[in-house]
Amino acid sequence: MRSRIRGRGLTVRAEGGRLRSAQARVGQTPAAQAQWVLGFATRNDLGRLRVAERAGLSWELAAFLGLTGPEDLAIGDHDVAECHQWIKAGVDQLVSGQRWRVHLDARSYVLDLSDRQWRPITPVSAPRAFRDRVIREILPVFGRRFRLCGRQKCPHPFIARKRKIYCDSRCSQTERTRRYRATHPDKSHEVYARQQRKKFGPNVVVRRRLSRSDRTSPGPKLL
Ligand SMILES: [Zn+2]
Repeated sequence: MRSRIRGRGLTVRAEGGRLRSAQARVGQTPAAQAQWVLGFATRNDLGRLRVAERAGLSWELAAFLGLTGPEDLAIGDHDVAECHQWIKAGVDQLVSGQRWRVHLDARSYVLDLSDRQWRPITPVSAPRAFRDRVIREILPVFGRRFRLCGRQKCPHPFIARKRKIYCDSRCSQTERTRRYRATHPDKSHEVYARQQRKKFGPNVVVRRRLSRSDRTSPGPKLL
């Protein structure tokens, strides 16, 4: 895609581009959006973000709320922080095995016969709109698909698709490798030895690696 934009349409097109890429990050399906909400909840870098990254988050929040930009609701950093605080507290409850109780306030709707539109009135604040939307549309998805990663020691929750049991492909691969090594100790050593001989020549002496739990101190480097 071309990133060089010139001329009068610059602002409009740049804004449109930002909205589209925010929408892409947030996703379209309930599962994708639930995964985005969960990713937002489990971020721990909000206080350290650069200006562009903070703006990116405001755009994502706007996209999630179905707005055309953060200006629609004047979504600022403290709105993002308030949304984050609320969703993080809830997800923390779920991760620790507790129930998460929420309150959904009644919302106003307007019927406008001039364009035959029945729609919710623009909500008063981004955190309020965020809570409403999460409670109505994302928590049902959490109810069916919220899982904790199956890899030992991985603390990440995720939104499961089909029978997924790990939060990402790295955890899945790590766990598969660990199980393979546990059941085929000799084979995995042979593979390792072959790699080392290829790297250092056929005469290199390849010793058995220590398992992670045995590596207590940084001893001499083993080949
Ligand atoms: Zn994981």
